Amino acid sequence: MVTTDEFEVLRQQIQRLKKELAEVKQRNAELERVRSSAAPEVGELPVAISEFEETLRRLVQRTAMIVQAEKCVIMVRDRETGDLVARPPAFGMTDEELREFRISPDRGISGAVFQSTAAGIFHDAATDERAVAENLVRFRIRNGVSVPLLIEKRDEENRIVDRITVGVLHCFNKRYGGEFIEEDVRLLERLSRNAAAVIANAQMFQEVVEEKQKLVHTLESLTAGLIFLNQRGRIGQMNTQARAMFAVPEDFNPIGRPIEEVVRHEECLKLLHRKLEELCHPQKEEEVGGIRQPDEITVHDKDDVEYIYQVHATSVTDDNGNPLGTVFLFTDITDLRHVERMKTEFVSIVSHELRTPLTPMKGFVRTLLDDENEEWYTREDRREFYKIIEENVDRLGRLIDDLLNVSRIERMGAAGLDMKWEEVDLRKAVEDVATVQRARTNKHTIVVDFDPETIVVETDPDKIQNILHNIISNAIKYSPDGGEIRIIGRLEPATETEPESVLVGVKDQGIGMTEHDLKAVGNKFYRTAQSKSIGGTGIGLFLVINLLKAHRGRLWPESEGLGKGSTFWFRFPVRQPRDENGNILPLTMDLKE
Ligand code: ADP
Repeated sequence: MVTTDEFEVLRQQIQRLKKELAEVKQRNAELERVRSSAAPEVGELPVAISEFEETLRRLVQRTAMIVQAEKCVIMVRDRETGDLVARPPAFGMTDEELREFRISPDRGISGAVFQSTAAGIFHDAATDERAVAENLVRFRIRNGVSVPLLIEKRDEENRIVDRITVGVLHCFNKRYGGEFIEEDVRLLERLSRNAAAVIANAQMFQEVVEEKQKLVHTLESLTAGLIFLNQRGRIGQMNTQARAMFAVPEDFNPIGRPIEEVVRHEECLKLLHRKLEELCHPQKEEEVGGIRQPDEITVHDKDDVEYIYQVHATSVTDDNGNPLGTVFLFTDITDLRHVERMKTEFVSIVSHELRTPLTPMKGFVRTLLDDENEEWYTREDRREFYKIIEENVDRLGRLIDDLLNVSRIERMGAAGLDMKWEEVDLRKAVEDVATVQRARTNKHTIVVDFDPETIVVETDPDKIQNILHNIISNAIKYSPDGGEIRIIGRLEPATETEPESVLVGVKDQGIGMTEHDLKAVGNKFYRTAQSKSIGGTGIGLFLVINLLKAHRGRLWPESEGLGKGSTFWFRFPVRQPRDENGNILPLTMDLKE
């Protein structure tokens, strides 16, 4: 007779067996699924990294389920440090644990399996030497089974010719307090082949993606514009600079489009086609009778500012020499061409400027010479003539000094300027210059507005005169209709980045400047379009900027726009920095330019 108690025990046993049977069935079904799905999982390269991640996530999950492990994790060799590091996704381990799970390949269970390429079981992480070395207990690991992740290279007859170990696959903590057995090793070895293939593919894919990113970054960091055209005349690559050059809208993707759809610039398209022709038939170049056609194009941006680009073309081939396409490089040579153009203009302008004072000098000297007996002109007349001659000699002298200073700056930067430092009352210096300049005009009112009245600064008296003369005479010259010229002087207290300085502004009501002019004035020989009808050399401000650099100072212009007047501001330290002996520190190399 079966008692109620015995009946209850039997009922529980049946229950447990049923549960185990269900689990075994599920295991078998999983195994079957892995077997049948293995091929497509590793057969072809998934298109995105996220797909690899998903595949691996499923793989570790299933592996853990099949060998009944609480945790499953893949370790791979870190390319930078050479260590074996846990690679997400894993099963049963937190992100933080994964980040900390790393070991040198000559230590621990991971190292032993990786080096020997032989699987291993450990039954007690607390006592197993290798597990202790790897400090596995800290990840709450009791026991485990580990297999190497191997990639096998085979020849045509399916013989293994090479084996590469890409990592280690671990399963930790057998469920229900059980132990891992040899059967688990065999199962894991089977599954590890899939994992190894996916890992190898993912790594390869990652490398390709990284290489591509590196290439794109390099292309983007070029200051030149770059377009790669494939064999079918479609754009394969176009960097930001090239997109800006040809005003490609930000939301338009030019990749894969025919060049004519993206570059709507006749002159450029013609040049690109000619370059393609030249690459296909290199002898063509000579056929044109040795006269090389220019490789330059001129592009105007939306503000109608002109840019000149030199275009280089190179064929791109693969390792076997098969053509892949053509790379076009657009180098901005606007400044170079402008300087060349301006130099030519400059020579004629300077000749003219040198000749201008010579004409009155020659005239008055002739007049005085003709009056052999000094009877035609009074003493006052003659003094007046001498004064005019002297003024023009001074003007000539200043022009020659400016030219000499420009060449000195060109060779040595602002540090090439020889400074004779003195303490100078700046307002007085301004008043002196204003007096001289007032004598030149009766259309302008020159106002000196200093607060405080006396600002004593360290400067070279000749150089500060040169700066003030240049800026104030420009204010007069570029205000042909007259108006007020206000010279403002202020003391600026020291800040965290700048020492106590003097700020000077020369404000006029003249022709004004465009935004483009504001950036460009001060470049050697630069003259604004609206000032071309007024005489000048375009070296005054270049000199002023460098003279201010020699004071450790700077200049910046402001203007509301054409016809709205301009203000030229400059500031420099009231006292120059000194060394321990009290001598003014020379300009450092970085300030030379
Ligand atoms: P320039 O001998 O031509 O006057 P500068 O170097 O002194 O040479 O000035 C460069 C250019 O800057 C001038 O040609 C002019 O176009 C512009 N410029 C300078 N000062 C003014 C001003 N006060 N108002 C408008 N334009 C100015």
